[in-house]
Amino acid sequence: MLWLSLLTLLMPGQTLVTALPLPAPEMSKQPHAGPSEADKEFAKEYLQHFYGYQPKAERQKRTADPDGDADWTTGLCDKVQTMQRFFGLPPTGELTKDTLAVMKRPRCGLSDVERFGETIRWKKTTLSYRIAGHKFPTSASKVNRTFRAAWKLWSSVAPLKFRKRNRREADIVISFHNGDHKDGSPFDGQGGILAHAFLPGSGIGGDVHFDADEDWSFNSTGFNLFAVAAHEFGHALGLPHSSDPGAIMYPAYSFAPNYELQLSFRDVKDVQHLYGISPNFPSLVLKKPPPRTPDKCDPDLSFDAVTELQQEVLFFKDRFMWRKHPQFEETGITLISSLWPDTVPSHLDAVYENVGRNVLTFFKGHQYWELRQLKMEEGFPRNISDLGFPSRIQSVDAALHFRNDRYTVFFTGNECWRYDEQQKMMDGSAMLTEQQWPGIPAPIDAAVFIEGFVHFFKGNLNYKYDSNLKRVVSISPANELLECEKEEDNETVTGRREMKESSP
Ligand SMILES: [Zn+2]
Ligand SMILES: [Zn+2]
Repeated sequence: MLWLSLLTLLMPGQTLVTALPLPAPEMSKQPHAGPSEADKEFAKEYLQHFYGYQPKAERQKRTADPDGDADWTTGLCDKVQTMQRFFGLPPTGELTKDTLAVMKRPRCGLSDVERFGETIRWKKTTLSYRIAGHKFPTSASKVNRTFRAAWKLWSSVAPLKFRKRNRREADIVISFHNGDHKDGSPFDGQGGILAHAFLPGSGIGGDVHFDADEDWSFNSTGFNLFAVAAHEFGHALGLPHSSDPGAIMYPAYSFAPNYELQLSFRDVKDVQHLYGISPNFPSLVLKKPPPRTPDKCDPDLSFDAVTELQQEVLFFKDRFMWRKHPQFEETGITLISSLWPDTVPSHLDAVYENVGRNVLTFFKGHQYWELRQLKMEEGFPRNISDLGFPSRIQSVDAALHFRNDRYTVFFTGNECWRYDEQQKMMDGSAMLTEQQWPGIPAPIDAAVFIEGFVHFFKGNLNYKYDSNLKRVVSISPANELLECEKEEDNETVTGRREMKESSP
């Protein structure tokens, strides 16, 4: 191993200790202090609200518990796991920092586990709506335009018509409210719950409420009203939450700058399941097909970046990532923005973890960002020239960090660069990848260490490389490490067939 050769050169003492390999996952988990009481309370309320956790029922079921922390060893753990699976987190059942971070993201007020079923839908295809009250975040005409555009997303794929009424009774009443507004679901001020809606029906059925305390916007500052309206209108039509992180019906707020809001393939399929297909839909599909969330079972799947993160391996693609945890076979997909601030861009070029500094570094174009403990470090993004790249290098394809030797290899085109993490400078000039890494076809997409081997990703292939023998030991499909399950495969095939049927 490389780190052994380094150790032999060092004198015993501090340096030697810091150069030792990292502790095993079990050991590195030990100093984990666990969630605070406030966080536990927050999580209980969250699970009660969104995952049907019933504290009283749980307490009755509770048997003598030697640890005295029965809430966390009984039903609550299951609910944490359900929530973790929904959001593509490793289903540990523990209130990890990541889990709490996802719970604290702004979101819709409806539950994630109630399946409404296909029977709850409007029986007519022309629906009326009225914008009521006066607590508009901006001019009424701007609010009108925004809602009209949000309805249009749905009416362009399903045979529905939405008619605005100014005074008379309407099927769907849309309004803004502060705090408690007498429907049993009070709003919570800034952040947290942004809006909620009622399923199709008479009276309050189909109505949509926005939290008037939010900083509503028409761009990417604050919360984008169009994005939230599109989601809530989906509920008003009878759609439940989707665990597909690319769907508009995903419960977490995920509007990103420069991202054109569109119904995803999943949203289209779900609304067409309730109401059928709009006659305009085939031409819309030809012009602008609804985006599909990357599928780990797609044989053509490639990655933007791959990195280690403590004991996990993270695979990045577009706005999404998969997290492979050594203790769990399933690898869930989630939004990059569900864990990190929106300042981390999508379509990344490279990511690596510097364990010694406890920092994750993200690359896109000529910029890079550093995050520590899920938070952006100050002064970022910075230009990659700050790392010592000459101006001719405008982006980084992949970054491979050597945990024990404190250096990182950057790949750019057919070259690679060795960066000394301790001196914070490039170690010499560029070398040719084909000479340093025989058998690896430059340029590459991503590189990462997994269980002692380097895995290089290019297109839909994964090159497993032995860095001692300096040769490729096997080549496999890029998605093999994500362990595609058959169930999901079937669903995708069915989905594709349906989409084709609905096309001309
Ligand atoms: Zn919702
Ligand atoms: Zn309400």
